[in-house]
Amino acid sequence: MSKTILTGLRPTGNLHLGHYFGAAQNWLRLQDDYDFYLEIADIQALTDNFDNPEKVRKNVHEIAIDLLSIGINPDKVHLFIQSAVPEIAELTVIYSNLVTMSRLYRNPTVKNEIAQRKALFGNEGESVTYGFVGYPVSQAADITAFNGQLVPVGEDQLPLIEQCREIVRKFNSIYGKVLIEPEPLLSKFRRVKGLDGSEKMGKSLNNGIFLSDSEEVVSKKIMGAVTDPDKIKKDDPANPDICMVYYYHKLIGSKNLENICEECKLGKRGCVACKKELIKNMMEFLKPIHEKRAYYEAHPEEVDAILLKGTKEARAKAKEVMKTVRQAVKIDYFD
Ligand code: ATP
Ligand code: MG
Repeated sequence: MSKTILTGLRPTGNLHLGHYFGAAQNWLRLQDDYDFYLEIADIQALTDNFDNPEKVRKNVHEIAIDLLSIGINPDKVHLFIQSAVPEIAELTVIYSNLVTMSRLYRNPTVKNEIAQRKALFGNEGESVTYGFVGYPVSQAADITAFNGQLVPVGEDQLPLIEQCREIVRKFNSIYGKVLIEPEPLLSKFRRVKGLDGSEKMGKSLNNGIFLSDSEEVVSKKIMGAVTDPDKIKKDDPANPDICMVYYYHKLIGSKNLENICEECKLGKRGCVACKKELIKNMMEFLKPIHEKRAYYEAHPEEVDAILLKGTKEARAKAKEVMKTVRQAVKIDYFD
């Protein structure tokens, strides 16, 4: 039998290049050979957007369209909505006894996200809810509710997979060997940087190129991307290694990459021309994605039917797994 894969996204905004190269490109390759559960994590999105349910609701649909537009095949992948599989919530409650508060606060991903919130919202960003600090527990439930063996994610997610593995080991040591310890699966581009040069392009960080961005928006963003600050004049030599424009040329595999690099180093290439070339290449890369998006935007009922089908399949699997968990924890009163 083929191995089971679980991965997911938070419906907090559209897909960007970080998702595509950091994670989704891998998903496209894996969908042919694995039993693949792809979760739209609306409950996790609510942990830091609980006061904005419209945003999450709208983005469930948007993310589904993005995923279908890049080529996720709903006949091969169980594309589902987290909140509609309540077994995940049940499992989260059981796991919440198996992890300490200090361990959650020490989780590097959580720590980082709290620091980012602080940078965005000042001291208010530091006050986090029980649900937010606890989302790694819920994510462990996401993975194990489907007996997920492999979890293809970006590098920012590695501490969350480790947290899940710890919970699984603890569970198995107390209740018997019921759960599987998942393994992470990284892409070639483990972490895609933001337009501002920061380490991670993120939906909530306002530093990304979205797959749904129009030419006008892409142009504006690329024109504003960070380049070598020491290059003042058009023919100053520059360092492509610290230029985000060169970085994205590399990411999308622009032709003549070596030339671009050499010309930049020798001062034979102005930033404006280099940016214009990137805009052209980027729009070519996005073209087939935009075409598919237009189709699904015109057929929202098809998107709804795909989500309903995927969620039913996911729930059937989670119910099976939950039954074995309830038995192990001796709360299987009426099963
Ligand atoms: P948010 O800011 O709301 O958390 P996000 O941009 O981090 O959004 P997620 O939905 O949390 O996106 O992540 C979905 C998947 O995409 C995860 O596997 C994550 O590791 C991966 N991913 C997101 N951003 C990047 C990036 N810049 N580079 C590599 N992988 C990424
Ligand atoms: Mg994230």
